[in-house]
Amino acid sequence: MLRDKQGRKINYLRLAVTDRCNLRCTYCMPAEGLDWLPRKELMTYEEMLRICSLFIAMGVDKIRITGGEPLVRRDLLPFLYHLSAIGGLKELTLTTNGLLAGNFVSDFKAMGITSVNLSLDTLDKGRFFRITRREGLDDVLATMDKLLENDINVKINTVVMANQNIADIIPLVRLTEQLPISVRFIEEMPFNGGTHQVTLDWDHSRILEHIQAQFPAMEKIPDAPYSTAYNYRIPGHKGNVGIIAAYSRLFCGSCNRIRITSTGVLRTCLYASGSLNLKEAIREGCTDTDLRNRITDALLKRPKDGWEAQDTLVAQHREQESMATIGG
Ligand code: SAM
Ligand code: SF4
Repeated sequence: MLRDKQGRKINYLRLAVTDRCNLRCTYCMPAEGLDWLPRKELMTYEEMLRICSLFIAMGVDKIRITGGEPLVRRDLLPFLYHLSAIGGLKELTLTTNGLLAGNFVSDFKAMGITSVNLSLDTLDKGRFFRITRREGLDDVLATMDKLLENDINVKINTVVMANQNIADIIPLVRLTEQLPISVRFIEEMPFNGGTHQVTLDWDHSRILEHIQAQFPAMEKIPDAPYSTAYNYRIPGHKGNVGIIAAYSRLFCGSCNRIRITSTGVLRTCLYASGSLNLKEAIREGCTDTDLRNRITDALLKRPKDGWEAQDTLVAQHREQESMATIGG
């Protein structure tokens, strides 16, 4: 079992398969996109399968595929089929903006994906365009419907931004009345490719107060182990509501997750720069034993929390980070 130096069990890996995306969300990247990585800097699918197999053998039992937008990478589906066939995973899942995902729901089902996180910041077409700088709301909603029709759990991720989508919070909560989904409101983090300073005007407590003012009967429900969300239920609603204090970093103490960026960098904390590039290590000819030792070493240097981690990031580097390159 993989553990960090605080003794925390690490069993959840988030794997970014690309930095590219078919949207340009304002909280994630500039309007012109990022300086996309050259293909040779990305891990190949073969390298990803080797890395995932290693982590599974070391105790990881949940893998989330993310990016960038995972579904814009060519041949993602055959890779997912291979990954799901490795065995040893309790959960294979993905986070997607939902534009293309609707085309692949039957494949998700066939490979045993039981839950998908869908990013959706607004139910209003004009605001969708202003936030993502592209059209696509109808496609995202159609994807949500298709996932639900196929009994795949849906978690909606909504980044809460002052002056942008506050008017959407209550309509998004109302979706839970008829739909068995979890709508999670996430504090905006400062990983937008350097486009703007993030001020935490809408932190977790303000989001909660805003929802409670409209739904005073909303009650706290138990959170799953290692959940980053504080979860709530409104009596009579089929779904539930979550609040993720991503910038306030209230959940670090029990964090069980690590990330691998699309270039193969192991990031043991979202707020820390990575020290180990697994793709480079593989290309240098490392054996599985070498790789395992390097991973174990990196985990032993894992920061205690996101505040300690942030101190290790070079300030300039931090300002230019995007969730699409970190792997959200
Ligand atoms: N493209 C996919 C998507 O949007 O779902 C997957 C990658 S995206 C980087 C993963 C998650 O990170 C999304 O739910 C997105 O809303 C979230 N995210 C991106 N930038 C963020 C930021 N600055 N603060 C908080 N969440 C952010
Ligand atoms: Fe693309 Fe996801 Fe970033 Fe939006 S949040 S720009 S969909 S990677």
